[in-house]
Amino acid sequence: MPLKKKAAKSAAKTVKKPAAKTKTAVKKTAAKKKPAKKKAPANVMGWAPGVPKEKPKGRVYDGPLSVNARPKKTDRIFFGTGGVPHSAKPQSHPGAIKRLHELGLGVYEMEFVHGVRIRPETCEEVMAARKETGVRVTAHGPYYINLYSLEAEKLEASRKRVLDTARALQACGGDGACFHPGFYQKRDAAEVYAFMTKQVGELADILAEEGCPVRLDPETTGKGSQFGSLDELTGMTRELQGKNVGMTVDFAHMHARSAGAKNTYDEFAAQLEQIKNKAGKAALASMHIHLSGIAYTEKGEAHHLELDESDMNYPDLFRALIDFGVVGRVVCESPALEYDALIMQKAYRKLNGS
Ligand SMILES: [Zn+2]
Ligand SMILES: [Zn+2]
Repeated sequence: MPLKKKAAKSAAKTVKKPAAKTKTAVKKTAAKKKPAKKKAPANVMGWAPGVPKEKPKGRVYDGPLSVNARPKKTDRIFFGTGGVPHSAKPQSHPGAIKRLHELGLGVYEMEFVHGVRIRPETCEEVMAARKETGVRVTAHGPYYINLYSLEAEKLEASRKRVLDTARALQACGGDGACFHPGFYQKRDAAEVYAFMTKQVGELADILAEEGCPVRLDPETTGKGSQFGSLDELTGMTRELQGKNVGMTVDFAHMHARSAGAKNTYDEFAAQLEQIKNKAGKAALASMHIHLSGIAYTEKGEAHHLELDESDMNYPDLFRALIDFGVVGRVVCESPALEYDALIMQKAYRKLNGS
């Protein structure tokens, strides 16, 4: 019987999809009305019905954008983009900050995912734009980091990439250096955890000696082959208490990593409870969060999606964040960047009573 129900549900969903897909070229306005009621899928293996398995290509994000009304109640959570917004002119780090400010958004994550390449002059411009606008700046380190590399040379290069991300962020006046710690490579998870924790602790010590105030925020990852479950990262934060180490909590990754679970209010609340209990209450007072739509298989993350093309249950996530009194930043990593960041901000403010 439940099977039949599920099939009917999935059919209903696929009927709706084509209509949404016809407007491919121009992105919807941010004011698109439907954030509230999104049904989470059943917590079963496999992908959500209707989620495209192919990565959408060639979409142009040049539709109109509407800024959300000013909140009556002060925001405790700020929203922004991972990478330069589509509508930023010029397409540069300082241009990104100015554009986010115009849109009423408050966070910019500089993407150094293909290498930490930023000129000192640009850092100064970012610093100036940040001061002028109040937009908070974070950074995402290179994908080519593996702090459990068995080759000394690769390990050293990985360590340097983490340090360089933090140093560049310092030069820009930002905080929160996010990075994917690395891979298990079929080794014992406990052994990898111990090794990674030691590495991250050492890197935090090096930065502290340099007087670098940037917090290291290893990220919860989207695939089972990648080190970085919430369990591991909350454990690491607890072990490294006293050092400047936090975490980047990517709720989309955790949803994908669990092949479709971790997408209900109760599950979000349990995750926040775990962070509070293991990493400490302070961890909820300065959270570095990532969010996007996501496509996944039973092996975890396939690719990021636009929010409204995914099953990501962000209204319930925001309810949980508000109920736990979370203060922090949400970086939108969906392909639609600022469009979806505005949708998130709108949904959050509505739930927050503003
Ligand atoms: Zn990431
Ligand atoms: Zn992320």
